[in-house]
Amino acid sequence: MEAGDGWLIRIRPPLGRLDRAQAMALHHAVTRYGNGRIDLTNRAALQIRGVAEANWQPLIELLVATSLVDPAPEREARRNVMLNPDWREGDDTHRIAIALLERIDEVPGLPAKMGVAIDAGVAPALSNASADFRFERGANGGLILRADGRAEGIPVEAGTEVDALVALARWFVATGGPISGRMARHAAPPPIMGTAVAPLPPRSRGETIRAADGLFRGASFGQIEAGELASCLSDSDVRAIRLTPWRGLILEGARPAAHPFADPDDPLLRVDACPGSPDCPQATVATRPLALRLAPHVEGHLHVSGCGKGCACPGAADVVLTGRHGRFDLARQARAGAPPLREGLAPDQISALFGAS
Ligand code: SF4
Repeated sequence: MEAGDGWLIRIRPPLGRLDRAQAMALHHAVTRYGNGRIDLTNRAALQIRGVAEANWQPLIELLVATSLVDPAPEREARRNVMLNPDWREGDDTHRIAIALLERIDEVPGLPAKMGVAIDAGVAPALSNASADFRFERGANGGLILRADGRAEGIPVEAGTEVDALVALARWFVATGGPISGRMARHAAPPPIMGTAVAPLPPRSRGETIRAADGLFRGASFGQIEAGELASCLSDSDVRAIRLTPWRGLILEGARPAAHPFADPDDPLLRVDACPGSPDCPQATVATRPLALRLAPHVEGHLHVSGCGKGCACPGAADVVLTGRHGRFDLARQARAGAPPLREGLAPDQISALFGAS
C-alpha cells in the first residue's frame, strides 16, 4: 500500500518463520529497497517501508523468489494466518497450518483485515492478538474452533479442522458478516456444529516465549534495524527466525550467551508509540522519548500517539497519551483521541504524574 514515506510492503512468511536464506533475503530487501528498518506488526507480520516506486517491482520479485510472498495475489490476500510461535514440527498448530495453507483457496473471500489464529498449544497464547477464527485448546483438552468475540468454540476432530474453518467462513459470508467487517462485530449467532466448549485459560506471553524453541529478541516499538537482523544471523546456531505478535522475534537454536536479549517481560515491550514529530507531519509532539521515559513507571499497556489517528495501536490501552497542539491529552482504558481525563499536559507534567521525573 502507499504511505506518506513511499510504498509499504507487508510480508506474512508462511508458518510465521523465515529460514536463514529467507532472513538474509529480507536483510537485502530492506537495505537495498527499503528504509533500513523492519517493522514487526502486532499480527506477527513484517513491514518494509520507504520503498520507492521504481523499487517496488524488483522487491516483490525478490520476495516471491524466496517464497516470502505468494506469486498469486489472491492467495497472498487469503494467507492471513498467525501461528502460536511455540509450535514444534508435527504438533497440532503446525499440522493445522500446513493443512490450511494447502487448502487456502477453499476459504471464501473475506474482508482484508480478517485472519486466522492457529493457537493449538497447551493453552491459548494469542487471545489478545487480532484474529477472527481461532483454533485453540478447549477446557476438555480437545481442539476447538472459536469465532472471535464468542466465549465458546466448536469441537473439531483431528483432520477436520480446515473443513470446520471453511464452513464457519462460509456461514460468516452467507449471514452478511462482510458488512460488519470483523467476526467480533458480527452479531449473528454462530451455527450449531456440536456442543460448545470454552477455551482453556490463556498462557502469558512470557510463558509462551520461554516454551518456544529458541530465544526471544525484543524490539522497542516493534522496529528492528537491518544491522540488528544481520547481527542475529551472524550466530551460526540460529536456524531460523519466528515472528511473534509481541514486538519481538524468536531466534530458533540461539544460545543465551551469544545474544543480548530483551526480557519478554521488559516494560518497553508493553509500549506503543508512533514515530511522532519530527518524522510524521501530522504530529505536534515527540512521542518516543516520552514513551521511553514512562515505560518502567506505567502499569499495563502504554500508548503514546502523535495525534488522534492512533497509528501505532488501533485498540484501547491502559494509559493513552494523545498529542494535540504541542501537548498531550491523557486518557485511561481508551484509544488515541478518546475524551481525555486531563488535557494539555507537557511531558514533564506527565513524567511527574507517573513518578518518572
Ligand atoms: S498517529 Fe498521527 S502522528 Fe502518529 S504516525 Fe499516525 S498520523 Fe502521524
